[in-house]
Amino acid sequence: MILRSLSLFFLFLIALSCTNPIPETPKAVLVIHGGAGWISKESVSDSMEQAYIKTLGEALIKGRAVIKDGGSSLDAVQLTIEHLEDSPLFNAGKGSVFTYNETNEMDSAIMDGATGGAGAASGITTIKNPIQVARAVLDHSVHVFLSGPGAEEFAIEQGLKQVDPSYFFTQKNYDRLKEVKVSTTMPSQEKLGTVGAVALDANGNLAAGTSTGGMTNKRYGRIGDVPVIGAGTYAENGVCGISATGHGEFFIRNVVAHDIAARIKYADHTIDKAATEVITELKEKGGAGGVIGLDSQGYVVMPFNTPGMFRGYISLDGSPVVAIYAED
Ligand code: ASP
Repeated sequence: MILRSLSLFFLFLIALSCTNPIPETPKAVLVIHGGAGWISKESVSDSMEQAYIKTLGEALIKGRAVIKDGGSSLDAVQLTIEHLEDSPLFNAGKGSVFTYNETNEMDSAIMDGATGGAGAASGITTIKNPIQVARAVLDHSVHVFLSGPGAEEFAIEQGLKQVDPSYFFTQKNYDRLKEVKVSTTMPSQEKLGTVGAVALDANGNLAAGTSTGGMTNKRYGRIGDVPVIGAGTYAENGVCGISATGHGEFFIRNVVAHDIAARIKYADHTIDKAATEVITELKEKGGAGGVIGLDSQGYVVMPFNTPGMFRGYISLDGSPVVAIYAED
């Protein structure tokens, strides 16, 4: 009798562990990336490493403060990304890379998991914080995606800060363009420094946002995955929020962010399994990069298939956790 009760008890435990596959991932209210790519300990000086860690940590603390104050995940995502856009360290806003024509053309997107609303912009050349354009499209237009001069005109009408294109000049990005310009193909082993954030607020609302200068030496007019909803950016309450970084053409073709959400929603995968498998499969197809994400309970994922990805997360009360290299 005792033996029978014991075995029933163990069967119950096994059944419980099968129906409740809690992923072995940390929990957070905000997760961010600052781009994936060929980032190794040897290629980043100690002082640069400190600068990256500092800026990522500051962005996490700034974004978390919004959630702590009862603000929305959308606001947290926007503020976090603005902080990263204002830094020359990342390929977004101030630090955007150059097109073949020696211009800076930026893409951005933000998505509200609560309503399914989204805003996106491409080909931004004079708006200081491209993520604000995406947010304005979401909040103040009937459209989802604006591009080029139409997007800029709309942004100016909305009162967003405009700067001279020279604001986006950085010597390191210009020198990098000169290096890769000798070849007409995309550099295959780049540091892809796009920025992104996903947040979960006290009301259980998920939001995701991404901002980028694209890829060095891209043709002018090229649009990457970042503003393509479902490719580089996606959020759906009860499922997940995802922001991607990597070789955009692969992320578009494989609808990466939405593929992760679909595996969670339809195949009952954990966010960990869904995101890890999608990024592994992407590598098999030749696509370099990674994603960050949170599920509806705040479980964090940050898989990537390159030597490094600037990344970090923060819980409601903890300190920022920031990492760069694959071995971190
Ligand atoms: N995904 C971006 C693009 O293709 C680049 C990056 O993540 O750095 O435009």
